[in-house]
Formats: sequence, C-alpha cells, structure tokens
Amino acid sequence: MSAADHSAPSTDTDPSADSTPSPATEPDLTPELAEALRRAAATPNLVVACDYDGTLAPFADDPMGAHPAPGAIATLARLADLPHTTVALLSGRNRAALAEVSGAAAPVVLVGSHGSEWEGGFDAPLDDDDTALLSRLHTELEEIASRTPGAHVESKPTAAVLHVRPVEDPAARERATAQAMAGPAALDGVFVTQGKNVVEIAVREASKGAAIERLTEQADAGVAVFIGDDVTDERGFARLRTQDVGIKVGEGETVAGHRVADIPAVVRLLGTLADLRS
Ligand SMILES: [Mg+2]
Repeated sequence: MSAADHSAPSTDTDPSADSTPSPATEPDLTPELAEALRRAAATPNLVVACDYDGTLAPFADDPMGAHPAPGAIATLARLADLPHTTVALLSGRNRAALAEVSGAAAPVVLVGSHGSEWEGGFDAPLDDDDTALLSRLHTELEEIASRTPGAHVESKPTAAVLHVRPVEDPAARERATAQAMAGPAALDGVFVTQGKNVVEIAVREASKGAAIERLTEQADAGVAVFIGDDVTDERGFARLRTQDVGIKVGEGETVAGHRVADIPAVVRLLGTLADLRS
C-alpha cells in the first residue's frame, strides 16, 4: 500500500456515483445552468431529451462498442421513473441499434434516425422513388468506401451513412468525405447531415428539433431540457423555446444556452436534476 492509495477516488468512473445525492451547486455547473436546472425540476411536466453518442457514451471505432458511461442509463431511468417526467434518448442511430447499444428501455423513450423513428416505426414510409434513390446513395457511398481502407457504409431505413472514423490516414479520411459531399450528397432530393467523421445522406428529412417539439407537445411540457454534443444537435438547440434548456457537451460552436465539459459531467448533471425533482 502506497501513500497514493489514500487519495480520494474519482467519482467520474464510479458506477455507484448516481446513487449518491449530489448538491445542485456542484463545480461542473455554472450558476446559470444550476438555476436553469432548478427551474426545470420545478415545472409540472418536464421533458429531458439526450443525444447518445458523445453525450452519454464515448465514441468507439465499432459503433456497437459505444457503451454508455458508468451510471448514465441508471440515472436516465431514475429520472424517467419520476412522475410527469418524460425522458428520451434522441439519436441518429436507427432505433433498434440505439436500444441494443444503450441498454435503455421503457419508460425511457427511444427515438432513432435523427428524430424520425419512434416506437411505432417511421413517420412516413418510403415510396418507390425514395427506395431507388436510397439504393443509389448506398452504391455510390460503397464505391467511395471501397477506395478508402477503414471506411464503411451503414445502411439505415431512410439513409446511407459513410463512416470514416476508423480511417487512419487523415488525408484519405478528408478525401472520402469530400467525395461523398461532392457526389451523392449533392443529388437532388437528399438531406445531408455531416457529423464527426460521418456523412449521412437521407431520403427523408429528419430533425432532432422536430422530435423535441413532438415530445414537448405530447407531454405538455413547461420545460424541455436537451443535451447533445454534435453539429446534428444544433438543429435541436435551435428549435428550443426561451424557457427550455439547451446544453452542449464539449468544445465547438453552439447555439445552446449552456455547456458542460464532458460525458461524466452530463451524468452528474442528470443525477442533480433527478435529485432536485425527487
Ligand atoms: Mg452525439
């Protein structure tokens, strides 16, 4: 046993951390965010919507290896069990993959495909033209991926997605992204979302903003809290009402009103919100 063993353990990786009540004035939170959480906790009907990758789970080269941070799903579930509190995972992933990788289940609401895929399926089924366009997108992205070692194409019900995160050569990664943007992403009738090392090309418009509005209406929520890390989440932040609370995770430009540093800070923040509302 060395002296170092007497140092205080970090709560960042302690799975039991979410069972410990944390004060609303924890150092993570600016006074403005602490106040916004107190206001959210006091509203009669509350919606809390959370992105998954980069917000509750660290990125992984294998998308199905992106496990939630310790305590993340338990804390979401604790919040979702509170009365008049709707908690949603709102992800670009398809809904089945989101359920599998996160391990989250009802009463947490799972919304996939950037807000267009709900428990009952997709908002609008694809017609023949959509299906033909989707097939072409897939083929063209596969051609790009086949020239780019490490890249792969993911097939979603309404989109084809080029993933370049595992590509080791930065120049090759940029070239593949540029080719996708100049080629299939420039076709008529497609909706392009560029995320971190990802180009998603959809034949249906999907927006996390519209999904948050739908959750807010369904719950008649006085306040909606939305937490996300990526450029795709900006469409969600942009649609929030003045009384809602947008929280950006990590660095980067944002229209969100608040920011926290990292994923463990998100988990602590959710725990604080659950404590305040309990
Ligand atoms: Mg994300």
